[in-house]
Amino acid sequence: MPLLNSRPGKRNSREARFDLLTPASAELAGSRPTRPGVPENSRLRIFETCANPVCGSGWLHLWRSRTAPVFEGGWNCSSACTAARVEAAVERELDARGSALENHRHRIPLGLVMLEQGWITSGQLRQALDAQKVAGSGRLGHWLVRQQGVSEQLVTRALGLQWTCPVLPVEFHDAEALTVLLPRLFVDAFGALPLRIAAGKLLYLGFEDRLDPVMALAIQRMTGLRVESGLVQSSLFRPAHARMLSARFPPVELVEAGSEQAVVHVLGKAIEKARPVESRLVRAHDCLWLRMWLRPQSGTLPEAAFIEDLICSLGSH
Ligand SMILES: [Zn+2]
Repeated sequence: MPLLNSRPGKRNSREARFDLLTPASAELAGSRPTRPGVPENSRLRIFETCANPVCGSGWLHLWRSRTAPVFEGGWNCSSACTAARVEAAVERELDARGSALENHRHRIPLGLVMLEQGWITSGQLRQALDAQKVAGSGRLGHWLVRQQGVSEQLVTRALGLQWTCPVLPVEFHDAEALTVLLPRLFVDAFGALPLRIAAGKLLYLGFEDRLDPVMALAIQRMTGLRVESGLVQSSLFRPAHARMLSARFPPVELVEAGSEQAVVHVLGKAIEKARPVESRLVRAHDCLWLRMWLRPQSGTLPEAAFIEDLICSLGSH
C-alpha cells in the first residue's frame, strides 16, 4: 500500500474549535490517562526517578533541570534512557501483531443477511452476484443498489447486522475540529472517519462498508476516548470523508524504516528533539504512530499547534 504518498499540509496554527465539546469530565475506562502531559507539579520532576527501569545514572545526574521529554507517562533522564524505553514500547507493539482482534472473523455473507431479513429476493441476490462476477469488481451491496434497485439504507442496515455495529449519522460533522484526533494518513488509507465526540469521552468513528477494529483500538489508546465504531451509508460517508481529507491536520512526519533498530532510533531522536510533556506509541496495522504533546492539554481535543505526529511504516516486517 502506498502509505507514504500523502504529505499533509503545514502546521495548523489556527486554534482548534471546541464547539462540539463539553468540559473535561471523568477519567475514562481503561488504564490510560485522559489528559496527556499534565504533570501534578513540574518542579517535583527534579526529584523524580527516571522511568527507565535499568537507568544507570547516579542520583547527581537527576539534579539536572530536565523536565522533558516524557514518554508514556514517565520522564527520561537521558537520551539513552529514552531510547531504552522506546525500544521496549516498539517491541510491545510489534508483539501484539496478529492478535485475535486482527484475525479475520467469519461473517454471514451480506446477501444471506438481506435474504433472511426479507429485504431482497433470491432472484435479486442471484442477479446481483452475477453482475458482480461479470464486472469483476464492486461490492455486492453496490450491485444490489445499482442494478436491483434495493435501497441504500437497507444495505447499510444489513452491513450493520453483519458487523454487529450501529449505523451512524453524519449530521453536524465538524471535520475541521476533529483532525487533531488522528493523522490524515489513517483517514485516507484506512477509511476511518471521526464523526463526533459525545459527553467529552466517547468518539463515534465511522467506516463505509467494514469496520477496522485495529484502527479503532489504536485511536482509543492514543486519545483516551472510548471509540464506538459504526457504519455510515456510502452516499453520506463519501462526501464527509472527502471533506475531512481536505481539512487541515496537525504536522506529521512520515518515515519508512528498514529495521526495528532504525524505528527505535528515529522515534527516540524525535522525542529527544521535541522534548514533549507527554508522548505515546501505538500501532495501527503496519504503522507505528508516535504522538507528542508539546504543552499540557486540558481539553478533550488537543490543540493542533501543540501536537506532533510521527508515523513509521514497518514495510514488510
Ligand atoms: Zn535514566
